[in-house]
Amino acid sequence: MSECVRLIPLGGFGEIGKNMLLLECQEQLLLIDAGIAFPDDDTPPGIDLLIPDYSYLRENAERLLAIVLTHGHEDHIGGLPYVLRDVRAPVYGTPLTLGLVRAKLGRHRLDDVDLHSIAAGDRLTIGPFDLEFFRVTHSIPDCLGLGIHTPVGSIVHSGDFKFDHTPIDGRRTDFSTLVRLGDDGVRLLISDSTNIERQGHTPSEMVVGKSFDEIFQRAPGRVLVATFASQIHRIQQVFDVAARHGRRVLVSGRSMERNVSVAAELGYLQIPEGLRLTHGELAELSDAAVVILVTGSQGEPVAGLSRLARGKHPRLRLREDDTVVLSATPIPGNEATVWRLINDLLRWGAQVVDHRAEVVHVSGHASREEIALLFNLIRPEFGVPFHGEYRHMVTYGDLAQAVGLPHHNIFLLQNGDVLRLDRDGARLDGTVAHGVWHVDGGRISELGAADSVLQDRGFLSESGVVAAAVSYDFAAGGALAPPVVKARGVRGVDEALCEQAAAELAARLAELPAPERHDRVEVERAGKRCVRAFFERAVRIYPVLQFLLLDPTAPWPEAAGEAQSEPAG
Ligand SMILES: [Zn+2]
Ligand SMILES: [Zn+2]
Repeated sequence: MSECVRLIPLGGFGEIGKNMLLLECQEQLLLIDAGIAFPDDDTPPGIDLLIPDYSYLRENAERLLAIVLTHGHEDHIGGLPYVLRDVRAPVYGTPLTLGLVRAKLGRHRLDDVDLHSIAAGDRLTIGPFDLEFFRVTHSIPDCLGLGIHTPVGSIVHSGDFKFDHTPIDGRRTDFSTLVRLGDDGVRLLISDSTNIERQGHTPSEMVVGKSFDEIFQRAPGRVLVATFASQIHRIQQVFDVAARHGRRVLVSGRSMERNVSVAAELGYLQIPEGLRLTHGELAELSDAAVVILVTGSQGEPVAGLSRLARGKHPRLRLREDDTVVLSATPIPGNEATVWRLINDLLRWGAQVVDHRAEVVHVSGHASREEIALLFNLIRPEFGVPFHGEYRHMVTYGDLAQAVGLPHHNIFLLQNGDVLRLDRDGARLDGTVAHGVWHVDGGRISELGAADSVLQDRGFLSESGVVAAAVSYDFAAGGALAPPVVKARGVRGVDEALCEQAAAELAARLAELPAPERHDRVEVERAGKRCVRAFFERAVRIYPVLQFLLLDPTAPWPEAAGEAQSEPAG
């Protein structure tokens, strides 16, 4: 078989979130990013995070050479603590990315991971992959794009990018490397398609600072700025503008404090001495001398701003002369939550400034003209969009054709679709396992819809739970005390109805004939049927039934009893 590279997308293709891409060459694997996605309306109740099905990676763990991280956003690094439980390989990333990773791994008690710092401009050979890293601009500092030289030619991975010509930290996209890579010939370009539907260019982060200037100037009292904790450049601008207007900054909330200290320690944030405030100092200052940085721009229920809006914040209260700046746009699908947040903020009499009135947020992703420019710099033979839903990918395909790629050289890969690149060309080459795993209380569930825990949660959320407990002596063949029936979350059921159900259950058990009344299976079956039938008849519901049959007279360990839960009906 001729030499080839196989592109194996596990997450982030046909969706925005949970990026995870494998490259395979000479039987060796390179993993690019290991991200998560956050739950949406389709996620079953109680799920914390979504992670790609990475069973292909796990089955081939011994072939994995390295994990390369493009930048420190959760959709690129959030899955690492889970993946690293199953596969081990050295992890490469820039200092800020690794700083965020280190904090994350520490929280998961993974402190023996081999972390290697890399910088834009570095070159690194890992097995058959000769990697070079180039700087791109985005909405977090220290982002990389990848030039990947392989035995069948070069691949360029854009990472998440925009072309910000006036970035806050002055570190611009490395156009000269992009030009050189393009001149030397690139077989395949994998690039960010998130904002392909937006015409023109994404504005520079710089413009947000100008809006902050005006807002901080006119605000009569405190200014609260809500943004993502990873938005280090936005946070820098908050500090800079606050200093210009004689205000000091309180950094509020755990993730905000953590990211600010990681970024400041590593030199990505410059905070002049005395500019930061503590909660203790807050009372000593006039309101017009205060800025408060919080998370929760998406209305996340546990984040600082949501708590403030609901009056549930442990240390802060909103006031009538507060100005609240929502320095983010609602993530698609999240609009209703953000409207609710805005309503709640306005109820305190606070001024709310969001993206509708002023430029208090710009995207970190390239718009149409920037994506076209990347194509023209790289001039690849083949194009593959990532970081986009299917509609973004289709539009990306149209743009790729407009800039000269033949239709059949554009591959709209979905997660699991393998693309084979060899000297003769590129073509689809089967699929690997793909899908979504749930992270639930720190554990991964690989079962998806077949997960009985989730099924139970589904039933519980629809119909509630009824618990019936009977203390029973199997030797004597009778209940030792009146049964107890309790209901939670069942519409139309009150204490009196539960007592009726318990009485009916007692009567039913008492009338069991002689051999059955000594048989655990028979007693349980009759008991469950009786309780179910009662609630069907009384309120026409089919609750989850928890039936506890306890025999305190039986010797240990059988006396531990038995609990069963199953959906009724
Ligand atoms: Zn990103
Ligand atoms: Zn991303």
